[in-house]
Amino acid sequence: MTALAQNIDAITAGAVPHDEPALTDGFHLVIDALKLNGIETIYNVPGIPITDLGRLAQAEGLRVISFRHEQNAGNAAAIAGFLTKKPGICLTVSAPGFLNGLTALANATTNCFPMILISGSSEREIVDLQQGDYEEMDQLAIAKPLCKAAFRVLHAADIGIGVARAIRAAVSGRPGGVYLDLPAKLFSQVIDGALGAKSLVKVIDAAPAQLPAPAAIARALDVLKSAERPLIILGKGAAYAQADEAVRALVEESGIPYVPMSMAKGLLPDTHPLSAGAARSTALKDSDVVLLVGARLNWLLSHGKGKTWGEPGSKRFIQIDIEPREMDSNVEIVAPVVGDIGSCVEALLDGIRKDWKGAPSHWLETLRGKREANIAKMAPKLMKNSSPMCFHSALGALRTVIKERPDAILVNEGANTLDLARGIIDMYQPRKRLDVGTWGVMGIGMGFAVAAAVETGKPVLAVEGDSAFGFSGMEVETICRYELPVCIVIFNNNGIYRGTDTDPTGRDPGTTVFVKNSRYDKMMEAFGGVGVNVTTPDELKRAVDAAMDSGKPTLINAEIDPTAGSESGNIGSLNPQSTLKKKGG
Ligand code: ADP
Ligand code: MG
Repeated sequence: MTALAQNIDAITAGAVPHDEPALTDGFHLVIDALKLNGIETIYNVPGIPITDLGRLAQAEGLRVISFRHEQNAGNAAAIAGFLTKKPGICLTVSAPGFLNGLTALANATTNCFPMILISGSSEREIVDLQQGDYEEMDQLAIAKPLCKAAFRVLHAADIGIGVARAIRAAVSGRPGGVYLDLPAKLFSQVIDGALGAKSLVKVIDAAPAQLPAPAAIARALDVLKSAERPLIILGKGAAYAQADEAVRALVEESGIPYVPMSMAKGLLPDTHPLSAGAARSTALKDSDVVLLVGARLNWLLSHGKGKTWGEPGSKRFIQIDIEPREMDSNVEIVAPVVGDIGSCVEALLDGIRKDWKGAPSHWLETLRGKREANIAKMAPKLMKNSSPMCFHSALGALRTVIKERPDAILVNEGANTLDLARGIIDMYQPRKRLDVGTWGVMGIGMGFAVAAAVETGKPVLAVEGDSAFGFSGMEVETICRYELPVCIVIFNNNGIYRGTDTDPTGRDPGTTVFVKNSRYDKMMEAFGGVGVNVTTPDELKRAVDAAMDSGKPTLINAEIDPTAGSESGNIGSLNPQSTLKKKGG
């Protein structure tokens, strides 16, 4: 008998083929299940009981990026999910590590980013009897209300199914965060290698296309055709869907002006003639029919009502979303279109190609006029070469950087640093702007920056308020360790909103200020990266260009006038102020 024939005999007899180990265990099954499903990267913080899992995963060819804190690893996984449409994987230890990762999991779910938080957990029998195990915690119960789905695997033979369920739950329908609980004992469970291999599941068509009903498309087209002042709002769901060409065709062939939400910027270039981004207030207030594409009418769109939206009853909304329950969440949706954005937009486009008279020119003229006036008003502020810098002059320099390097990824968080950068820095390509998202959460910065660099291989520019940076700042060591092409710019105005608050009693520093004139650039130098301190927009531009050209991890401390910011940036109205405050200080 030849070796081949022997092998075939062995396989048909159910024996182990020569390249399959006789035995396998929980560790290897988790890794094999992830690999089988195309997972390439794990964002990790090692420790009990998952240390060896990370180590073995690396040995088996997965990229394992180890962080200093689980929240940052979790944020990295979440944004990897947004960028790739595959679930980002975050791996943590039990109880405290799990809880640290949970903020990112909840944030991912809120933002509709697919991720899987895999946490090791302590012994079920002891945890359930509350007998005080090492890091005792009922993690599954705690995760459940904070994510889209949560699963626990108790037997090695179920790992394949557990991972498959987690992947499907994360990416199908409205994407979100999934928790996968793996008790310590599972990892060292040994089972027969052939049985193990058979137990793995390759998920077929994890996020199936969801076609809209023809009647829903017809209804939406009727409403759209009756519009005098139509407007398209593109949300980050549209960016996530990667239906870039269809979205572009819908805008250009209909001629309807559009406003991009923050992370949808660049889906079409912000300089596009149909962009009404710089005329946002007028576009929202004066439009009569609004087509929402992967954008929710939540607080970021004033819930679809109030003075942002003009006269009550002046608006009719069409909404494209994969989640049927999103419809009518805040106001009536006269034409709900439920399905995936690619399929829905293609279907609308078909209708428009058959019969469309174009968008009314008076409306386009109104928005164009408004847009040009707003841009002209802003221009001189962006060009000042002042020292100390204000937010506008510093952002003017960074706006030029992105214009010259449109494929760089911009990560952005802070208050003034966020709100002003969103308006000032034009984006030119899809999924290049990553920011605080639906919650406006601080702390995403370094996790997002790491994952953006790892997943795309493109240079990353992280524009950070000094406060925002503090939430994930220790990851500069991670950036240096993996030698990632990340340039961090800290808008250092000595504090939160402003750097000028004082304690009225004179005892302590004010609650919103930091050490004055801190040199964050020295942090980067501590780990072998490049640190630069800059005081003018010209110096800032030069330092960022040098960082982007070299690809070396760089942190630029940009000195901003401590009096320049405003309370809570653009959302001061959400920050209640006491009318009974004592004067003083
Ligand atoms: P933004 O904050 O940019 O307005 P949101 O996060 O509020 O965006 O809204 C994104 C919406 O996109 C969510 O309602 C989500 O259900 C939807 N969505 C995500 N992916 C898809 C997809 N592939 N097809 C259709 N809708 C999607
Ligand atoms: Mg600040």
